[in-house]
Amino acid sequence: MKTLSFRVILGLVALAMGSCAFARPALAAISVVASTTDLADIAKQVGGDRVTVYSIARLNQDLHMIEPRPSDVLRIKRAGLVVRVGMDLDLWMDALLNAASNANVNRGGRGYVDASVGIRKLEVPQEQITGASGDIHVYGNPHYWLDPLNGEIISANILEGLKRVSPADASYFERNRNAFLTALRSAMRRWQEKLGPYRGRKIVNYHDAWPYFVRRFNLKVLGCIEVKPGIPPTTSHVASLIERIKAEKQPVVIADAAYYPDKAAKTIAARTGAKFVIIPSSVGGTKGADNYISLFDHIVDSLVKAFSTH
Ligand SMILES: [Zn+2]
Repeated sequence: MKTLSFRVILGLVALAMGSCAFARPALAAISVVASTTDLADIAKQVGGDRVTVYSIARLNQDLHMIEPRPSDVLRIKRAGLVVRVGMDLDLWMDALLNAASNANVNRGGRGYVDASVGIRKLEVPQEQITGASGDIHVYGNPHYWLDPLNGEIISANILEGLKRVSPADASYFERNRNAFLTALRSAMRRWQEKLGPYRGRKIVNYHDAWPYFVRRFNLKVLGCIEVKPGIPPTTSHVASLIERIKAEKQPVVIADAAYYPDKAAKTIAARTGAKFVIIPSSVGGTKGADNYISLFDHIVDSLVKAFSTH
């Protein structure tokens, strides 16, 4: 009898704890729609179990070229928070935001987060932009999430957005963000140690997506296979890149995301002996790169492997 009542009490306690743990997100979770998988992951780290997160970009897509689905409009209609890359990278978000007409998450709404606010922007064009400039972005190079330290600014912007939407959860979000920063900073030391011996080494990329990354890790971009962002390679452009790689004293590594055409990269590698490696440029870009920190583990390890065996 005594044992039974003890069990009953245990059961009631478990039930009460269970309902606390599960009722909260089910009833009150903030629906976050991010334009990319990188922003979605950081939003998940900061929002914890008080958010549900969705990324409009799928795994391994060219982020300039996303074609949203009608169901994405519905998601934004119901969203409490929208997070975008900004700097004209995800211009396709504007059509979605217009179609959804959810004032809370539209530009200026409390649930609107442009993750680029406060980023030290690279490659801001000085000259007049014309059609000949290619897909160049007037606000500078928008691939800023590829400097892991910019994760601090991105997470700060997301934190502010979440606090505006749900002030009662402010200290919970702040704790989560601090835990994210601690993990990011300790990973940063690991990445810097690994890449340290390769200071000054040069890489070639199909698309000009890596200036933030190379600046952080003291590497250099020798050149891009695209003539200009969004303008595919020409024979003469590839030929001049081959000459420049041949003129280098140290071997060059060609590093690209899997979704870019690899024909020119393979030609260049064959003519110069440059090593060609596929590296992810967003969360989900390769197996195991399933969050913002493991993304850089994959990038760094792939580059170290290429530099050290070459
Ligand atoms: Zn780009």
